[in-house]
Amino acid sequence: MSRAWIGLGGNLDEPATRLRRTLARLDQLPDTRVIRHSALYGSRPVGPADQPDFINAAAELETELTPLTLLDELQRLENEAGRVRTRHWGERTLDLDILLFDDRVVHETRLRIPHPELEHRGFVLVPLAEIAPALCLPDGRRVDHLRAACDATAVWYHGPAEAEGESH
Ligand code: ATP
Ligand code: CA
Ligand code: CA
Repeated sequence: MSRAWIGLGGNLDEPATRLRRTLARLDQLPDTRVIRHSALYGSRPVGPADQPDFINAAAELETELTPLTLLDELQRLENEAGRVRTRHWGERTLDLDILLFDDRVVHETRLRIPHPELEHRGFVLVPLAEIAPALCLPDGRRVDHLRAACDATAVWYHGPAEAEGESH
């Protein structure tokens, strides 16, 4: 069994509703369950500014999948959400990034772990620090320390991930 931490994001077609549904879908992946997840956060777009604000969250998974098989499953969920790849860091219905996977370091064309931008991004570190403040990167740095050092001014609390009347 491995632990994987996933960053969820989206800014098209009711992203809050989609992220809530995606948390349920993650729990249904083969040999995988969601141990915990953060609340939903809003964030201003990084990259092109002429796009809607994002909704972001983080989830901790317990999984028997390998990192690459997990990536396949996450990309399948992105495709099911109708994701269309347009411009770099542009608008999208759903983005699922593997942030950390146990204490592994992966440098493959398709997959880099830890996620290379993790340490710079408030919209990743704020939800991740909510669920795993004492988690350490493979190099020993703590998530809550990275979160305290990053610029989180463009990130705000949006609401709980459990919507009233919505079942998982
Ligand atoms: P960023 O990676 O900077 O957050 P992005 O999420 O917009 O940008 P995508 O277009 O979603 O980038 O993904 C491009 C490719 O990144 C994917 O096809 C995937 O193979 C690769 N990739 C590398 N490392 C990871 C990772 N840790 N999690 C998810 N995808 C990754
Ligand atoms: Ca991303
Ligand atoms: Ca991505």
